[in-house]
Amino acid sequence: MKIICIGRNYRKHVEEMNQQFPEQPLFFMKPETALIRANLPFYYPGFSGEIHYEAELVLKICKLGKNIQRRFAHTYYDAVAVGLDFTARDLQQRCISKGHPWEVAKAFDGSAAVGPFVPISSLKNPDDIRFSLKKNGQMVQLGSSAEMIHGFDALIEHVSKYVTLKIGDYLFTGTPAGVGPVKVGDWLALLLEDKEMMSVAIK
Ligand code: ZN
Repeated sequence: MKIICIGRNYRKHVEEMNQQFPEQPLFFMKPETALIRANLPFYYPGFSGEIHYEAELVLKICKLGKNIQRRFAHTYYDAVAVGLDFTARDLQQRCISKGHPWEVAKAFDGSAAVGPFVPISSLKNPDDIRFSLKKNGQMVQLGSSAEMIHGFDALIEHVSKYVTLKIGDYLFTGTPAGVGPVKVGDWLALLLEDKEMMSVAIK
């Protein structure tokens, strides 16, 4: 399986990073080895001094597809989870300033934590899926799928133009404002609607 991640998909997050708004969705990938299974810790890597959390909604792909039209896109995912796109912000800034690829900052082992998936059909309002992140008990990020610049179906359409989607692939859909650093000893808790889905200890 593969993990596809969308960048710059929430207006206030783009503003807090002082970045440009993309005309089309931006995406990058993480390998399967980036996954942290539910409730296992995140081990702070020695190569970075500035790891940031990014809480995101994650879609699970349920059908093989390529060049998917937007009006059919909703049939290609059936479940959603909350996940963390851990980012080595210091390495990422260096990569961006030099025009280098940023896998060292985004694709390292443990950089993708994903909570348990829930069927989209079980949600009250699939167009307004609320999620949040607490750090050491304090709410630091709060978002909703309704605030995305490019919605789920537009993302599926765009990504599948370039990359075949396969059953079991994950799509991270971007992070809202409020990203920030973690340090050893911190606890992160991910909530979907008002329910805590997963916690991650930083070790
Ligand atoms: Zn992200």
